[in-house]
This record gives sequence, C-alpha cells and structure tokens, in this order.
Amino acid sequence: TIDLKGKIALVTGSSSGIGRAIAVALAAGGAKVAVNYLRSREDGEETVRTIREAGGEAELFQADVSKVDAIEALVRAVEETFGAGVDILVNNAGHLVRRCPNADMTEELYETIMDVNFKSAVFVTKAVLPGMKAKGGGAIVNLSSLAAHDGGGPGASVYAASKAAIVSYSKGLAKELAPAGIRVNTVSPGFIGRTAFHATFTSEEGRKATVGRVPLGREGTPDDVAGAVLYLVSGLAAYVTGETIEINGGLFMR
Ligand code: NAD
Repeated sequence: TIDLKGKIALVTGSSSGIGRAIAVALAAGGAKVAVNYLRSREDGEETVRTIREAGGEAELFQADVSKVDAIEALVRAVEETFGAGVDILVNNAGHLVRRCPNADMTEELYETIMDVNFKSAVFVTKAVLPGMKAKGGGAIVNLSSLAAHDGGGPGASVYAASKAAIVSYSKGLAKELAPAGIRVNTVSPGFIGRTAFHATFTSEEGRKATVGRVPLGREGTPDDVAGAVLYLVSGLAAYVTGETIEINGGLFMR
C-alpha cells in the first residue's frame, strides 16, 4: 500500500496540468503538499481547493523556479509553513517556451529553456537537501520527456536536450544521494493531452497523427503520470533509484 502520511511534499509548477495531478495524488496518499505556481494564483488556488475538498492538506507558494533567489525563498517558506524539511520533491515545472529552429535561436531563449527545465531541478534539489538529509532520507522525482529520446518535434531541440540533461543528472544524483537515504528517479511522459503544453504547442492534426501511433490507442492523461510518481515516492519503490519510467502508451520503448 501507499502511505505518505506525515510526509511533506513539494511539487513545482503544480497549478495546472501534470503538476496539479501529481499534487492531488500525493495529497490523496496522505502527504502535506506545497503547491507552487508561477503566475496564475487562481489556478494554484484551484489545485489547493481540489486537495482540501478531498480531505487532504495543501498550501500555496508563488515562485519562479528558474531563479535561484526565488527557489531559496520558496523552500524557506515551505519549511516554515510545514515546520520541517521536505521529504518528497517533484521537479515538475517545465516549458517548451516556444518552438524555434536552431537558425533563429537566441542566447536569451536558450537560457530561458535550460533554466526552466534543467537549472530549476538542480537548484530546487540543492535547496531541499539539508532539510531532507536532516530527516534521514527522502525521494525526488524529476520530469523528463519522450523528447529526451527522440529529439522532440520541429523547433524543440533545445527543450529535448534540457530533458535529456534531466535523465543523466538524475542518475548521477541517485548515486550521490543514495548514502543519505534519498532516492532519485525520473518520469518521462509521452503525449499527455489536457495540458496547457499541447493546447499551446500542438495542432489538432499533430495530435491525431501522434495518438494514431500509440500502441495503447489513446493520449495519456495527467493522472497517468501522477500514478507513476506516486509509486516512485512510496515505499513500494524502496529499492528503485536512478530509474526512468516511460509513460507513453508504448509509443517509444527504450
Ligand atoms: P503545463 O504547461 O500545464 O505545466 C507546466 C507548469 O510549470 C505550469 O503550471 C507552469 O506555470 C509551470 N512553470 C513553468 N515555468 C515555471 C517557472 N519558471 N516557475 C514555476 N513554475 C513554472 O504543462 P504540463 O504538460 O503539465 O508539463 C508538466 C511537466 O511535464 C513539464 O516539465 C513538461 O516539460 C513535462 N512534459 C509534458 C508532456 C505533455 O505531453 N504534456 C510531455 C513530456 C513532458
């Protein structure tokens, strides 16, 4: 069984989409959840309301996790609010930002993509580590993407590379933190519909073409991803670290 009672969880970018589903699932498992949003306070409040209405515990925190100062303030606020360090960290915040061919890539866009998708995971992890170590262990899950393996669609090469960085980073971190009782794993979603991500970046024809190639015959849902995260942070995965779980309906098999 999955029992996260008494655990404190931080899910970055959890005001919508996959992050919201993860926050809701962790709270249903018994964790007290720190919901983080960037801009839409209303969406963040909706996540918190959903959790509380189901009898769970959640608090809302604004922060831009692509900035180290903001990350440090976020983690301090979470620890103060819940009165202890974070046991479960899910580095979910991520963004394609915009499709851009390499010929048009600017230094600014490159940095924005890398900072939101990769730097954020490195520094949120760094910020929670003292608290997590003080508790004798914990679990970290990082969000990669099918794009890490296949390079993503047109104009997504830097995004794909940032998500590939997540995979190797997570493996290195898993070795580094194992002696501290901290497990680090990655989930790698394929085509997950009902997210702002695809509403913004994928045409209806593109969606149909991709879903048509999925062996399980449908697009994924945020709950499909949340289920894998719930498993990885739970005692059921006590002997699993440095692993990447592909959640893509069989679209890509490693
Ligand atoms: P989404 O756009 O709905 O969610 C992304 C969340 O991250 C949003 O809540 C957004 O506000 C937040 N965010 C972005 N930049 C941030 C910042 N600087 N600070 C704090 N929060 C920030 O998209 P989603 O599909 O739910 O994406 C969740 C994760 O899953 C991302 O890492 C994404 O790359 C990954 N992913 C999604 C898919 C998919 O098919 N939707 C596929 C593979 C990977």
